[in-house]
Amino acid sequence: MAQYQKIKVPTSGEKIKVLPNGKISCPDQPIITYIEGDGTGPDIWNATVRVLDAAVEKAYGGKRKIHWCEVYAGEKAASMYDGNWFPDETLTAIREFTVSIKGPLGTPVGKGMRSLNVALRKDLDLYSCIRPVKWYKGVPAPVREPEKVDMVIFRENTEDLYVGVEWAAGSPEANEMIALAKKFGKDIRPNSAIGIKPMSEFGTRRLMKMAVEYALERKLPSVTLVHKGNIMKFTEGAFREWGYKAAKELFPDITITEDEVFANHGGKVPAGKLLIKDRIADNMFQQALLRPDEYSVLVLPNLNGDYISDALAAQVGGLGIAPGGNVGDGPAVFEATHGTAPKYAGQDKVNPGSLILSGVMMLDYLGWKEAATLVEAGLAKAIQTKRVTYDFHRQMEGATLLKASEFGNEIIKNMQ
Ligand code: NAP
Repeated sequence: MAQYQKIKVPTSGEKIKVLPNGKISCPDQPIITYIEGDGTGPDIWNATVRVLDAAVEKAYGGKRKIHWCEVYAGEKAASMYDGNWFPDETLTAIREFTVSIKGPLGTPVGKGMRSLNVALRKDLDLYSCIRPVKWYKGVPAPVREPEKVDMVIFRENTEDLYVGVEWAAGSPEANEMIALAKKFGKDIRPNSAIGIKPMSEFGTRRLMKMAVEYALERKLPSVTLVHKGNIMKFTEGAFREWGYKAAKELFPDITITEDEVFANHGGKVPAGKLLIKDRIADNMFQQALLRPDEYSVLVLPNLNGDYISDALAAQVGGLGIAPGGNVGDGPAVFEATHGTAPKYAGQDKVNPGSLILSGVMMLDYLGWKEAATLVEAGLAKAIQTKRVTYDFHRQMEGATLLKASEFGNEIIKNMQ
């Protein structure tokens, strides 16, 4: 066990183990690290931790229990660690205990500050950003049939234009890149800014593997690769090819492509097969609105994945309660997808649903499905009975306004 300066590791509980196949082995009494978050973070964390503990207790009656270990980042860390927003020991603990959950963090003002999210993704190689998107009955949604949306997004987290390799227009580096491109017969307008878009078979293959395994474990009908391969042939086009190749090589008996379905099975997917298909990204945005029930798991490069995550969450009215997880081969960090909403800090007001549903993803990741189901059912019932926080209250006829903590209580009350 690493030595910590300010972090108090619980005296009971055990470490989660990472197995050679990149899966985790979770003991009945795991130690799990959490970051409360800035702004409204403490309000939503307080509601979340009570809900998660209550669900675990109800599901397993004391046999299983999470031993929480607080680690520090953001404003709270700065006040404890002499202005350091992201102490090294936070990263050490997150790495040591494998699974974490975090509230939102404000972006510190000032240059040279390391972004926690970027550091976590890089250090722990959390290569997949997973975002389930579905509608909860009663949530005000902008489309007519939000119940048709039930998708899980697997967004690549380490490659693509987001790697941050770019140079300002007119800089010597950009000019040199332009000269280099010219040498290869490619004309780029003088004084252009330059950004690099790296994508690899390695990155695509492991993302696709995780997405296909997820679909198979849950008996989902399809996995769709979403790309702009018609335009960016060697990056996004290759993403499509590598994705199909990974499915064929890693899961040969259980997967089938759309082409094979039409060529050999009269357009009907044979029983027991997982359908692998692909869509061009712009078409996918229209498909998501027009035929959402034809899509289940989506696999996307970083940039497309970023856009579609918010578009789909908005489609079901769930941007404020959208959960997320950054997952690698073992390590995982689950997090609220909204920001710190600082104007409401300390008012016990905002919706804790995003962090609570991220907790559902975490329980599912631990293999504690019964507890995950209890939380989700409790939250769904609270929304259905219109006992909600201000954000939903202002859009629902005849709803009862609850504080963040009361919404947590309501979920606990409704766990069946
Ligand atoms: P924000 O914190 O997400 O808040 C924008 C608005 O979204 C709020 O004013 C509120 O809308 C609504 N909202 C957010 N969380 C809510 C919740 N739990 N329940 C109900 N409504 C909620 O975005 P921001 O103001 O752009 O960013 C604030 C800070 O958060 C920034 O420092 C930003 O960098 C940071 N941030 C962090 C993360 C992260 O850590 N993952 C993500 C995004 C942003 P109304 O005003 O309409 O009530």
